[in-house]
Amino acid sequence: MDISVVIPVFNEAENLSKLSVELNRVLQSMNKSYELIFVNDGSKDKSLSIIKSLAVENKAVKYVDLSKNFGHQIAVFAGLNKASGNAIVIIDADLQDPPKLIADLYTKLQEGFDVVYAKRKERKGESWHKKLTAKYFYRAMSYLSDVEIPLDTGDFRIISKRVKDIIISLPETNKFIRGQIAWTGFNQTYIEYERQERFAGKTNYSYAKMFHFAWDGITSFSVTPLRLATILGFIVSLLAFFVICYTLYQKYINGNVVPGWSSIMISILFLGGVQLICLGIIGEYIGRILENVKNRPKYIIQDTNIDDKA
Ligand code: UDP
Ligand code: MG
Repeated sequence: MDISVVIPVFNEAENLSKLSVELNRVLQSMNKSYELIFVNDGSKDKSLSIIKSLAVENKAVKYVDLSKNFGHQIAVFAGLNKASGNAIVIIDADLQDPPKLIADLYTKLQEGFDVVYAKRKERKGESWHKKLTAKYFYRAMSYLSDVEIPLDTGDFRIISKRVKDIIISLPETNKFIRGQIAWTGFNQTYIEYERQERFAGKTNYSYAKMFHFAWDGITSFSVTPLRLATILGFIVSLLAFFVICYTLYQKYINGNVVPGWSSIMISILFLGGVQLICLGIIGEYIGRILENVKNRPKYIIQDTNIDDKA
């Protein structure tokens, strides 16, 4: 099998037949063996029955039906687990990611890359607040995280089998696939395209889901939020120091203070600073626990001439 295409599907009934026609056209023109893996993520509309009828007509169509809505990332993960191709394409079902780009992605992959992602130049038909939140999310992500996650890309990309094998072996429960793919390293590149409007239906990402997704991305790739407590602690302590000097000055040099004021000010500020620093220290340890519990391999070997079997 040359190419597996993984398609997460959540209530996409109106898009599926056009999508499958386009995918088949592109992939047949490429003259490669392929499979289309539709992952039904608990759709409430006719998506599943449409997929099943596509499978009857076309042997290349396979499907995975999840028991309920697990969310986009888990659906992609489930599809990757079933993919048997040497190259794996991840594509949305709503035709926002143009299937004809698969040919270019594949050509680029053959040039010796392990990941080729599609970077959007423009996003058509999406509300300005969606673009804005997305833009700032990607910027914040790249600022906070230690992994270089490409800006302005969705999950539309092609990956080699070895990258897929690593991704499906990661035991983390919070999946942020594009971050994990970036984390694997190897040779990664991109091609640019203009993102289309949804062919039909409306976005399945509610603000709650987007928030969850962003939060997963940040917390599984960064311990910076935990570190904030320490930084805050030091700032408060510094402030406390000045206020303490000021209260002492008022009390002993000026002598015009309400009794009790200086001791209350000093103890509140001092304790506040100490508490935040301690919280930050605890946070640092929790961050390390998190790193370890994630249980990601410490490194990935790209290539070696050492034969382990010997
Ligand atoms: N999707 C999914 N499960 C969900 C939400 C979305 O499998 O809970 C699929 C959806 O069918 C589509 C892709 O993920 O193929 C991207 O979703 P959507 O187009 O709603 O996101 P947007 O393009 O607006 O970011
Ligand atoms: Mg979409």
